Amino acid sequence: MSTCLAYGVHEAHAPLEPLRIERRALRDDDVAIAIDYCGVCHSDMHYVHNDWGTTRFPCVPGHEIIGRVTAVGPAVSRYRVGDRVAVGCLVDSCQGCPACEQHQEPHCTQGMTPTYNGLDRISGEVTLGGYAQHIVVREPFVLRVPAALDPRYTGPLLCAGITVWTPMREHGVKAGTRLAVVGLGGLGHMAVKLGVALGARVTVITTSPGKAEDARALGAHHVLLSTDPQAMKDAANSFDLMLDTIPRGHNVNPYLMLLGRQGTLVLVGALEPLEPIHGALLAINNRSIAGSLIGGLQQTQELLDFCAEHQVLPDCEMIDIQDINQAFVRMEKNDVKYRFVIDMASLKP
Ligand code: NAP
Ligand code: ZN
Repeated sequence: MSTCLAYGVHEAHAPLEPLRIERRALRDDDVAIAIDYCGVCHSDMHYVHNDWGTTRFPCVPGHEIIGRVTAVGPAVSRYRVGDRVAVGCLVDSCQGCPACEQHQEPHCTQGMTPTYNGLDRISGEVTLGGYAQHIVVREPFVLRVPAALDPRYTGPLLCAGITVWTPMREHGVKAGTRLAVVGLGGLGHMAVKLGVALGARVTVITTSPGKAEDARALGAHHVLLSTDPQAMKDAANSFDLMLDTIPRGHNVNPYLMLLGRQGTLVLVGALEPLEPIHGALLAINNRSIAGSLIGGLQQTQELLDFCAEHQVLPDCEMIDIQDINQAFVRMEKNDVKYRFVIDMASLKP
């Protein structure tokens, strides 16, 4: 057992504050990691605010973790002290069920263990995330950061990146795919960059007129203002795939209308009730609506390697841990350009 500094909350809506937490003594297949950077996901804010009623307190968020190996258990074979590594949204799963065998660990039939707010499969203790100096993680859930990736900008690939990459791969995004990205925040801006890298024709659908220029700079071919009824009407029936990153329950009907034949809207943002969906909008054009949850370990490593090869990196605003509460306020105002990343060197006694 060791202790380290972290940032977290003891109750919903409280500001994040310094905490001292314990990390377990290394088990045989554990990797100890000193955390250098951690991305800030909108889910972190959902948990801190207990938006889903499932938060266990104290809560230490953070699941876009980049660090260096400081020690390994005796059974660890793939990592050595000093290696540059990453940890994403999950730190354990049963590894024996059909989902795990098919590399879909987030859908483990016994339930995956999230990096924070989960229960350790052995000790039953609540997992604490990456807004901390150190973390201990089982080897299969540790990913390798390719040397060609700048570690400061790699964290957001572990959640924002993989969450949009998984449905893009699932739905075969390729040259010419007409891809729409709803919401230009952390997930959305990664969807634009990855979609462009795969050759898709990318349209950003935004509520923020001020983001149009940014969207184009990120590589988007078109920008559609969802608050402009005429523009929405003109865009009817025009997309093959739509990734909806809106972070709360909303009316998906105006977005469904934009899908062409066999088009699919994949919900990745709203993990809560939606307004009623009009069945006719699904029947017309044989449209589908689907969901997607983060991604498996193998696919996350594939994404890291793809981003290293194609130099696809998020646009990050580096912050000190002491700025985290202000960052949450800005996230609530849709003012993220386009992912906050905490420089963990700022976390000192
Ligand atoms: P974010 O950086 O805050 O971006 C969300 C964007 O959605 C905003 O920038 C805004 O873009 C748009 N938006 C916000 N409120 C809206 C509203 N009421 N109506 C329409 N558009 C709105 O958030 P994020 O980190 O990308 O996360 C997005 C959501 O995905 C969160 O709910 C998070 O919990 C969830 N998530 C899910 C998974 C998964 O596995 N499925 C994984 C990670 C995160 P514009 O200004 O362009 O309109
Ligand atoms: Zn996340």
